[in-house]
Amino acid sequence: MTADAAIADTHCPYCALQCAMRLTPQRDGARVDAREFPTNRGGLCKKGWTAAELLTRGDRLTAPLRRNGDRFEEIGWGEALDEVAGTLRALRRTHGADAVGVFGGGGLTNEKAYQLGKFARVALGTSRIDYNGRFCMSSAAAAGNRAFGIDRGLPFPVADLDEAHTVLLLGSNVAATMPPFIRHLSRARERGGLIVVDPRRSETARLTDEGGGIHLQPAPGTDLVLILGLIHIVIAEGLADEGYIPQRTVGFDALRVSANAWWPERVQQMTGVPVPLLRSVARRLAENGGTYILTGRGVEQHVDGTDTATAAINLALLLGLPGTPGNGYGTLTGQGNGQGGREHGQKCDQLPGYRKITDPAARAHVARVWGVPADSLPGPGVPALELLDLLGDEVHALLVHGSNVVVSAPDADSVAQRLGRLQLLVVCDFFLSETAQLADVVLPVTQWGEEEGTMTSLEGRVLRRRRALAAPAGARSELWIMSELARRLDAPGTWSTDPAEVFDELALASEGGPADYSGLSHELLDTGLTAHWPFPRGSRGTPRLFEERFAHDDGRARLVVVHPRRERSEPSGAADLTLITGRLLEHYQSGAQTRRVPELLAARPELTAQLHPATAVRLGVSDGDPIELRNTRGAVRARAEVTTGIRHDTVFLPFHYPGDARANLLTEGVTDPISAMPEFKRTRVSVRAASDTPVVETAVSR
Ligand code: SF4
Repeated sequence: MTADAAIADTHCPYCALQCAMRLTPQRDGARVDAREFPTNRGGLCKKGWTAAELLTRGDRLTAPLRRNGDRFEEIGWGEALDEVAGTLRALRRTHGADAVGVFGGGGLTNEKAYQLGKFARVALGTSRIDYNGRFCMSSAAAAGNRAFGIDRGLPFPVADLDEAHTVLLLGSNVAATMPPFIRHLSRARERGGLIVVDPRRSETARLTDEGGGIHLQPAPGTDLVLILGLIHIVIAEGLADEGYIPQRTVGFDALRVSANAWWPERVQQMTGVPVPLLRSVARRLAENGGTYILTGRGVEQHVDGTDTATAAINLALLLGLPGTPGNGYGTLTGQGNGQGGREHGQKCDQLPGYRKITDPAARAHVARVWGVPADSLPGPGVPALELLDLLGDEVHALLVHGSNVVVSAPDADSVAQRLGRLQLLVVCDFFLSETAQLADVVLPVTQWGEEEGTMTSLEGRVLRRRRALAAPAGARSELWIMSELARRLDAPGTWSTDPAEVFDELALASEGGPADYSGLSHELLDTGLTAHWPFPRGSRGTPRLFEERFAHDDGRARLVVVHPRRERSEPSGAADLTLITGRLLEHYQSGAQTRRVPELLAARPELTAQLHPATAVRLGVSDGDPIELRNTRGAVRARAEVTTGIRHDTVFLPFHYPGDARANLLTEGVTDPISAMPEFKRTRVSVRAASDTPVVETAVSR
């Protein structure tokens, strides 16, 4: 135990539930204890219990690395930063400021996410910044902004779900991704009111067994049609809230006309969900009050993800749920700071406080805080996948923070190839992730138990992350790295390395914006204050949004007519299936962290593909056999997991594994035209038995 170690009340480093934990320094690391907190009620999942193992692993990066042919060599910080700054300067001189790109992450603290957006616009002068939240929350965010005029994942505290009569969960496997959350579903299950929509009989879907509720198992990619069918029934059977709709919404007449096209028999034919089940779900949603509709990545990670989330909001508005006590609509944020990370400037079109970079008043306000002329700020950049597509053509250097794109981005092989065309790839990470393995320079950074900062959880609550241990000698905070690079680049403005000071600046920059943090500080948060944004100066915060009005100028929510853009195509060959990707309980996102925790890796050491028994028979495959999934983009080998918990036309792969086991070797780089969300849940693949066993590699060659 080092002299500067101290017991710290903090939160889990992984998902957006941000379970509360106490980190106690020990002789050889730190011990995790769960803390009582409204979201986790003293519970943690196995990822949280084992999280401290990340802090003391022998493969932590502790010195900057520079590529030398196929190897890395350790270099000093001064040399590394001089070299990075020198190359950035040269590229900017030759190609202009937009030749440098920045790729951020939804796991960064609010302070780092804020500073990264400022660093890109002020120190680098580039518009080319976006982040991996584009692959996570972008569709729900776009739908929330369109309907409500604001995007806060849950516009109410998680604990409000405790008294629910009915909860409709669309495309979310919370029992695996955030297990403590299911405590909040107990009452709804007791009342037979948990309704889960998922093509798989997932861990969450199984919570509907024994009277807990209803599981709807639509064909992959037909979620939007399913919701349109529910809307049709709600209107046709007179279940809509006729008092709420004229008072609190606009657009009902057009929505009613459009809903005519989605009669139940048509919806049954397209989704495979029987008409009586559709009717009983619609009726259940409308009865008794106490109804919540929640969406997750399963319905959002599509080329029509924004419209699907919009349809879910339309359904909630028709039933009079948003802003009504004891009812609501929300989306379940995934990454640890997926909420705060999308509010303070990492998005290509956004300034801190969830302001639009195209809004002259927002630019003037933020430029004043940053001490630069408003017209020096670049305009909007391009979203993540478009940014990755520009690598080697218009973008010649990329700085990556808290993201492992060669595992997590769609069409992963082409992303790796594009990274190889860069003149400079700089990756800040605490392990040599698969993306870091391709870098020219790797900068070792501090991680969660070694740093101060704030995170914003899935319920829009700002939380303190606290330091329990000293970072290894040689690791540096990203705030320090940005400050040093800004100095070397002669950037204007101030570049504090103190998270509390950076938060104060963020609070000022956010003042008056939709995500207003101006009434908050580290000091106030340390008093135990419950802090849901918006939290303007002098206020007490906003646990529940929409109680009186929505955020559009007229105070009303928008009912927006949406249609499926592309109907599901039928399998084109005997071995063709629809691939859906998702998460396992034991691993988190690209697995760069959880694959390094022995207990988690031992529980899920290799890639498995779920197949229905009938499909397995047709393919001549038994449980445990090696199989190959292939399409025009690539091939993946996995071990077959034969289960009745999946449709016969569907195969499921988790996306946590590297090398030849990357599910994203198969996914396509097509995106939602509104949110730029890639299509992760509807990929055509052909599946065959393979003669050899799957190999999980840890490295990807450049
Ligand atoms: Fe809680 Fe999520 Fe951490 Fe699990 S991973 S302990 S659910 S915050």
